[in-house]
Amino acid sequence: MKKLAAGNWKMNGTMAALAEVSALLEAHPDPACEMLLCPPATLIAAMAAQARGTALKVGAQDCHPRPKGAHTGDISVPLLRDAGATHVIVGHSERRTDHGETDALVRAKAEAVVDGGLTAIVCIGETEAERDSGKTLAVIGTQLDGSIPGGATATNLVVAYEPVWAIGTGRTPMPSEIAEVHGFLRGRLRGLIGGEAEKVRILYGGSVKPSNAADIFAIPHVDGALVGGASLKAADFGAIVAAL
Ligand code: PGA
Repeated sequence: MKKLAAGNWKMNGTMAALAEVSALLEAHPDPACEMLLCPPATLIAAMAAQARGTALKVGAQDCHPRPKGAHTGDISVPLLRDAGATHVIVGHSERRTDHGETDALVRAKAEAVVDGGLTAIVCIGETEAERDSGKTLAVIGTQLDGSIPGGATATNLVVAYEPVWAIGTGRTPMPSEIAEVHGFLRGRLRGLIGGEAEKVRILYGGSVKPSNAADIFAIPHVDGALVGGASLKAADFGAIVAAL
């Protein structure tokens, strides 16, 4: 499996921002890693059209667990797929916090993604208080057990470890701390899905930027990154892609 550089634009990006995608594709037409951008839903179709025939894949940041129905304002996996998405982020800490998403809901969404033929990027991570009280592995172990979809394979599942306190703060765990968590997650995945676990990409996310990307990618069991702020500019995201 290739490593994965995934960008999460969050609630940023008007049509004008697609110029960054053109610049990214021009600078990195044939990257060594898999390259994915998850723009706001309003840009998915336009970005997917732009990405057609290139190395860039386009994903969504959330989905509804049901395939269709009376759910005003929500977007289902079949709709995302129709717009051109190949991946869906589920369980990002901002959704767990802002929308009270539980592991059970995250799993339901991840299963909808898998059932719809797309790849789920399941996010987990501890808060600063949880890390300070020595609960990191217990917390993320519980989140992983509760959030990953049934029938998970290395093709339909990506796991993203994102310490809540590292997101958008400029702070990152020490390499030894990232190594400990990623090694733990690999073992836990083995227990959950067997040999397929060896190939599942485990991304690190939280303040990844050009200046720290190479050091983070050198850590065992780090198979790529989920990048927020630094994915908005082609130069920054391109430098992270080049480091993988
Ligand atoms: P950040 O966000 O790179 O801006 O810290 C990461 C994320 O939330 O996925």
